[in-house]
Amino acid sequence: MGVRKIGVVGAGAMGTGIANIAVMNGYEVVLRDIEMSYVERSINNMGKFMARSVEKGKMSEEQRQASLSRIKGTIALEDFADADFVIEAVIEEIDLKKKVFSDLDGICRPEVVLATNTSSMSITAIAASTNRPHKVCGMHFFNPAQIMRLVEVIRGLQTSDETIATAKALAESFGKKTIEVKKDSPGFVVNRIFIPHLVEAARVLQEGVASMEDIDTAVKLGLNYPMGPFELMDFTGIDICYFVMEYFADEFRDSHYAAPQIVKQLVRAGRLGKKTGAGFYSK
Ligand code: NAD
Repeated sequence: MGVRKIGVVGAGAMGTGIANIAVMNGYEVVLRDIEMSYVERSINNMGKFMARSVEKGKMSEEQRQASLSRIKGTIALEDFADADFVIEAVIEEIDLKKKVFSDLDGICRPEVVLATNTSSMSITAIAASTNRPHKVCGMHFFNPAQIMRLVEVIRGLQTSDETIATAKALAESFGKKTIEVKKDSPGFVVNRIFIPHLVEAARVLQEGVASMEDIDTAVKLGLNYPMGPFELMDFTGIDICYFVMEYFADEFRDSHYAAPQIVKQLVRAGRLGKKTGAGFYSK
């Protein structure tokens, strides 16, 4: 059966972007968070994003209204009973993700694919919390999901070819380019390459080699990257960067990946990136 209705779990930065791109491409979406106010904020943000698209002439006001009408917000996971495909985007904690997948497994029809937007964690471990590991895969969108063109589609140990094909086709129907990650390896492709670059930038700062501003300028102008590493960590959220660094250090048994003190201190101080609007540039 084709995908018509998509369940999105988590209405934060990524869930909002994913739900938004889905409704803009004609899908119905049921969007779930733990508090209704989070869901409402998310739908409000989608409305604002699409209002800018209307201003730029990329969509009409009628299309914006039609897209908004395709979203149903909820705090009840039971509302996913008639979803045809589910994308999970809750916070980056393995136990929480496993609980969500185990609950989804009991609610969704057996043929429904359950995808996780994890930035780094094991698809195989998440899949093992369900009775349908062949129907579980990674679908890694990038922030902001409405704009970033890539989706990594990731194979867990037991993921079927059919599941990978369904996830790829869905992402492509959103106008995304997909790559297949053939092995369930921490950080997949992009973050495997990218996170060590953030660790090294934090070390360079910690050692006093250059100022934060100069490191950002160096990376932007010297490598032609659109954002410097500190700007990017603030944008992504220091907490997520910290979790991924520590996860890599554990999984690869290699302390070179571990979060430098300068990152750890920001997290310890409760300055959780975008959650409080604080980070490297707003201590
Ligand atoms: P976020 O903190 O902005 O949003 C997470 C949301 O999940 C919050 O609104 C929270 O209330 C909600 N939540 C927590 N428990 C829940 C539950 N049981 N059911 C439903 N909702 C629940 O986080 P984010 O930046 O959107 O990241 C979400 C996921 O996407 C993480 O796995 C992250 O690693 C991944 N990711 C993030 C980025 C990024 O740049 N921010 C990029 C790619 C992937």
